[in-house]
Amino acid sequence: MSRILSLSFFFLLVACNQPHPSAAVMVVNPPADPPETFHPAKNVILLIGDGMGLSQISAALYSNNNHLHIEQFSLIGLQKNFASDNLITDSAASATAMACGVKTYNGAIGVNQDTMPASSILEEAEAHGMATGVITTSTIVHATPAAFLAHQPERKMYQEIALDIARSGADLLIGGGKKYFNHRTIDLLDLYEELEKKNYLVSDNYQTDFKDLQYSYDKNLAFFTSNDDPVPFSKGRDYLVPAAKMAPTFLANRSQKGFFLMIEGAQIDWAGHANNFDYLIQEMLEFDEVIGEILQFAKADGETLVIVTGDHETGGLSINLGSRMNDLLPAWTTEYHTGTLIPVFAYGPGADLFSGIYDNTEIYQKMRQALQLHDRNAALEFMPAANGSN
Ligand SMILES: [Zn+2]
Repeated sequence: MSRILSLSFFFLLVACNQPHPSAAVMVVNPPADPPETFHPAKNVILLIGDGMGLSQISAALYSNNNHLHIEQFSLIGLQKNFASDNLITDSAASATAMACGVKTYNGAIGVNQDTMPASSILEEAEAHGMATGVITTSTIVHATPAAFLAHQPERKMYQEIALDIARSGADLLIGGGKKYFNHRTIDLLDLYEELEKKNYLVSDNYQTDFKDLQYSYDKNLAFFTSNDDPVPFSKGRDYLVPAAKMAPTFLANRSQKGFFLMIEGAQIDWAGHANNFDYLIQEMLEFDEVIGEILQFAKADGETLVIVTGDHETGGLSINLGSRMNDLLPAWTTEYHTGTLIPVFAYGPGADLFSGIYDNTEIYQKMRQALQLHDRNAALEFMPAANGSN
């Protein structure tokens, strides 16, 4: 909590240092009140397609008989995703921008340009007694999930990130990278055991298939889907859709105060780096199934804000002349990321906040505003034991 308070203080300092329009006239702009009809969201589900730009969405759409679940969104915006040190971002800087609201350098995990930790929306939700979860098709220590759960100056510090994750208090962790928890070389810790001591049910796909896992709502859950990187969807990885199906109900049962859930489709990016179109389409269609499941939950629930976005585009993908429906002629311009604007899709209470063109750091601010965490922060000072969802 001290990190959250000191961060608020930091923002105060920044705000006070803004130049005034005139030395003689002091203009104070209080934060705009939400519109009268504004209904706060109880829950936020953020879906990040790593490397998913408009071309990847178009390619999946026209490779799937002109149909995707993502078409159900009517509220759409665009985000600028450049990093503080490079116009072309990596996943660490862009995920930190969305998770923590700070513009930072490529490689940064939950820290600002000066490597100072910045609290994430997940940590703030956790501190308010909300339930929290992260699901990914990469290792759980990889850049995108790590930015929500950890604070390290360099994305490759996987064992340090694993330690942060084990101590994050998140209710639900699903992803690969078991070895960073139980076969450590930088210390003698057994984080598998530590998680169990912290009231986690800890399991992995060497013990059971995710779909056969027996869990209960009175324990946190950490499920490792592989020792290292999970395999591609086409090679048999099948946990993402069932995990997305169980997670909202699991988290809703973990706290009365709502939940924050981030789900990442990580290998959309890996397909882009490999310039492998078939791999891309398989990963995209699986991620779109997740979108369908989450929208179904949100529509029935009525109190959940759903946001779907990417962190950057990967591969410089285009769909070229000669393409026909379900038979595309793709072309790639790079094996790295590109600097194109990234679409943001929003549904549910607070969705209106996400229209327009804005910086990726605004996604953090908009999620806070939708959850009204600013208001809840004031109460936090009087609730030292607010962390109720562990
Ligand atoms: Zn990448």
